[in-house]
Amino acid sequence: MNAPETLTSVRPGGETQPSAPSIAGWDLIRTLIAFDTTSRESNLALIDWVRGYLKGYGIDSSLTFNDDQRKANLFATLPDQHGNTIDRGIVLSGHTDVVPVDGQPWETDPFTATLKGDKLFARGAADMKSFSAIGLSFVPEFLRRGLRRPVHFALSYDEEIGCIGVRRLIADIAKRGLHPAGCIVGEPTGMQLVVAHKGKQSYRCTIRGHEAHSSLTPHGVNAVQIGCEIVTYLTNMARAFRDNGAFDEAYDVPYTTVHTGVIHGGTALNIVPRDCFFDFEFRYLPFDDPDALFGEVKAYAERFLPEMHSVDPDTFIQFEQMSSMPGMDTHDESEIAQIGKLCNGRHDYGKVSFGTEASLFHNASIPTVICGPGHIAQAHQPNEWVALEQLEQCEAFMRRLADHVCVT
Ligand SMILES: [Zn+2]
Repeated sequence: MNAPETLTSVRPGGETQPSAPSIAGWDLIRTLIAFDTTSRESNLALIDWVRGYLKGYGIDSSLTFNDDQRKANLFATLPDQHGNTIDRGIVLSGHTDVVPVDGQPWETDPFTATLKGDKLFARGAADMKSFSAIGLSFVPEFLRRGLRRPVHFALSYDEEIGCIGVRRLIADIAKRGLHPAGCIVGEPTGMQLVVAHKGKQSYRCTIRGHEAHSSLTPHGVNAVQIGCEIVTYLTNMARAFRDNGAFDEAYDVPYTTVHTGVIHGGTALNIVPRDCFFDFEFRYLPFDDPDALFGEVKAYAERFLPEMHSVDPDTFIQFEQMSSMPGMDTHDESEIAQIGKLCNGRHDYGKVSFGTEASLFHNASIPTVICGPGHIAQAHQPNEWVALEQLEQCEAFMRRLADHVCVT
């Protein structure tokens, strides 16, 4: 764990080091990046640091922990000028965890914020510590100017492994009777306001066939061939969506996609394979129903069973759901979308294919938009970076938010 106290300067990296940019939250960005919060690690050092930072301004934090108490979400509220913490608040939300750097060819220390030219390199620079840091850096300004509505900070754990942690944070918001008016999730969108993203459901299909010598194929049940027939059915579904929609052109990929990403089966060419499994996913538009799509696939697969059972009654086709992330679509005329446009200083908005915690806030009746510095294309990569210009845009966003929520 890199403690923030050990940070004295941005590592030179053998080049002429540019001076620190004049971005609000620069020190906070460096501090948050210095904690190795790879999802498998504890995030408590980072959470403790943020809790101490907020405490320094008289703001208490509420923590919700994972089962083994190694990770926590932090939720904190800056009350409005009348002491209201309950109603009309705006949530600024970010996840604290980052994806692993193992095996990636990094040219700089991934847990040291390193400036090169007009880019900041570090794990989490884009996804997504910069947004959280810039938001937190406005705490003194929010408090000095007084708030017309509460501002909440929501920092979660285990987003990168399936949006696990934030579910407890959202349950805690509900338990405490808070009714935020909206939430801004700072995932990297290139500072474009995003009002919708696709949902995702993924499955594993396991086929148990019956082994036989490959010269005696009628005595066996070929699990690989049955698996391939089901995969082909999925491929045809994908083509049908591509060709016939439904379409929503606001998305980067404007239709539901169906994808098989892993397949395993068989041991040798001269054996009719007994086992095969494959993993597939639907990334669906809000008006497509993934359960119905899955139902179609399952019904198709069941057609093979009578023939399989006629050879061996112990053969089977089994489906297991691996993950489920709902989609979300916040109307672009909603209050939080209007606030997002105001803070962004522009009226355009987009929709994206990758999932975020936004859908979980959205489904908990907290209207949510996504807007953050950096691009998803740089996230999860070696030498992850964010352009300083993106950080400046994020700072400008936060300043306009301050103008919106502050009394003076
Ligand atoms: Zn992220």
